Amino acid sequence: MKVTFPHMGHLWLILKTALEGIGLEVVVPPPCTRRTLELGVRHAPESACLPLKVNLGNFLEAKELGADTIVMAGGVGPCRIGYYAQVQREILRDIGCEYKMVVFEPPDVHFSEVWDKVKYLNRRPWQEGVRGVILAWQKACAVDSLEQEVQHLRPREAKPGQADAVFQQALGELDAAGSRGEIKKIVKKAKSEMAKIPRHGGGPLLRVGIVGEIYTLLEPLVNLNIERRLGALGVEVVRGLFLSRWINDNLFKGLLPLPGHHPEKTAPPFLNHFVGGHGWESVGDTVTFARHGCDGVIQLAPLTCMPEIVAHSVMPAVQEARGIPVMTIYLDEQTGEAGLQTRLEAFVDMLRWQKGRKAAERRGTYLQQKLFQGAENKCQKFT
Ligand code: SF4
Repeated sequence: MKVTFPHMGHLWLILKTALEGIGLEVVVPPPCTRRTLELGVRHAPESACLPLKVNLGNFLEAKELGADTIVMAGGVGPCRIGYYAQVQREILRDIGCEYKMVVFEPPDVHFSEVWDKVKYLNRRPWQEGVRGVILAWQKACAVDSLEQEVQHLRPREAKPGQADAVFQQALGELDAAGSRGEIKKIVKKAKSEMAKIPRHGGGPLLRVGIVGEIYTLLEPLVNLNIERRLGALGVEVVRGLFLSRWINDNLFKGLLPLPGHHPEKTAPPFLNHFVGGHGWESVGDTVTFARHGCDGVIQLAPLTCMPEIVAHSVMPAVQEARGIPVMTIYLDEQTGEAGLQTRLEAFVDMLRWQKGRKAAERRGTYLQQKLFQGAENKCQKFT
């Protein structure tokens, strides 16, 4: 059995470790490129979600490298995610590309639903398999912790790209790491290298939260490297959705003590229930970002993504009530870099202007208070 999987951001590193850990031969799909997208677009229905098209391209490219089994995550809820795997299986069969498919879905009743599929795939003694899965989990946490460091550094580094270079090198080393000790050393080394990166002494930074559908958030081909673009514009990006949290929330049912998503607490009264995909989280995270003083929020969504359209429809109410500007960007295969860049620059300019105005207002109020206090004191002298 030669297994492959969808390429989504740094997920390859985690899945590769887990699948190799249970004794499978792994074919890592090549990183997503325009070719991947073109292959997917050629064979998928035009109205299909963008992630389905990209995944299809991944599977076709992995087939060229000899893969015969697909391992992927499914989903539940009112949107199209529930029949993603079936649609992909039919399309691949129609074009003569035979694959076996193993789909991991969030367990309905019991964690054993996930475990049964792991048992089917496992080729090693249990202790070794479990060790492999734990190693993959530790790598997921390491990748997320380094990525947060990079998000912090991008708008501050004197020479753009240095933090990303250290991160890329660390990813290569993490891929080869075989124990928790090695992972810890790699993270420590990468963080100390990042700490030495020279910073510029520019003006106050903006903080922008990114919310939206998981694929558009995590795959740079799909979002046209939005986080790097924002970093270059002097914006610190914050994101609530990371792979380790997603795995913990969805596959482990929040068993591990990690900060997770709790849209049931944060999204009401704007959105009171699950709407599929990550729509509920998008609203909840926007409220959380407003509470933590972010200057704005960008919502990313594949064109026609139903859950994000629902979230988009309540964003004006969130903006109004929480006083945080939100820009929604829909992405598909037609999205161009120049158009995206222009929208980002305009949004960042507006946020900067608004931040400056708020600061001026605060200074004005402070001055007024001082003058008023002074006048009051003088009045007291003469009475
Ligand atoms: S969450 Fe959006 S992009 Fe994903 S399957 Fe559902 S509708 Fe499609």
